[in-house]
Amino acid sequence: MKYEGVLTKMRTELTSTVEYYLIFESDFINVNQLLNKRISFNFLRFQCLHCGLQKKIFAQGYCYTCFSTLPQAGEWIRSPERSTAHLDIEDRDLEFEKEAQLQPHIVYLANSSDVKVGVTRKTQIPTRWIDQGAHEAIEIVEVPNRYLAGITEVALKSHVSDKTNWRKMLTNEVKDLNLEEEREKLKQYIPAEAMEYYLENNKETEIHFPVLQFPKKVKTLNLFKQPFYEGVLKGIKGQYLIFEDGTAFNVRSHEGYVVELGVL
Ligand SMILES: [Zn+2]
Repeated sequence: MKYEGVLTKMRTELTSTVEYYLIFESDFINVNQLLNKRISFNFLRFQCLHCGLQKKIFAQGYCYTCFSTLPQAGEWIRSPERSTAHLDIEDRDLEFEKEAQLQPHIVYLANSSDVKVGVTRKTQIPTRWIDQGAHEAIEIVEVPNRYLAGITEVALKSHVSDKTNWRKMLTNEVKDLNLEEEREKLKQYIPAEAMEYYLENNKETEIHFPVLQFPKKVKTLNLFKQPFYEGVLKGIKGQYLIFEDGTAFNVRSHEGYVVELGVL
């Protein structure tokens, strides 16, 4: 079986174990069904997710031109504390930024290897946690805009990490923590402007990933450097496909790559 399409991050569905889907123009592939099968990726060309041109992908699936001009690639995406739509100040496109920033946002704790703090739109829960490979997560505050979420995250970052250790996440060197306790410890550092939005009653969400076998050592696959790969799929965690030989393929970092996917 062969499929061809431009990679975008896998869609997910939180059931007893996470279900993963690859969406191509003419195919909808349930990746869980490829577990234990030998599959191959053949990199054919780039295709920017916005302009559609065959230009090298710079970041987020966009070519450099699109990445430097599109409102959905603005600095406030990666640094929520730089959001300014609540002040009526435009970054690249005020209408777009108002719609994206002036809506409920969640500051959360997610544990994918160690506990980390993060920010996301409320509508992205639990998608964001699944994408990070978190086996447990909990909300800290629900605020009305992205700016408030950003300054809360910045304040908490001095007391807890804001990075995922993806190697530990993929080899499953993880510990179980009581995130309600961790949240309680951090409460004192929430900025005054966000304190009224503290969520003390939310419970931990647990996430189970479809992994048959965790690798002892991980090597990452970069299709730009190595345009062809073939291996037996042993697991899916976060946005990674994990293979029998320890290869981990980050689907999200290959957005905008047109590939041929072979299932043997
Ligand atoms: Zn483009």
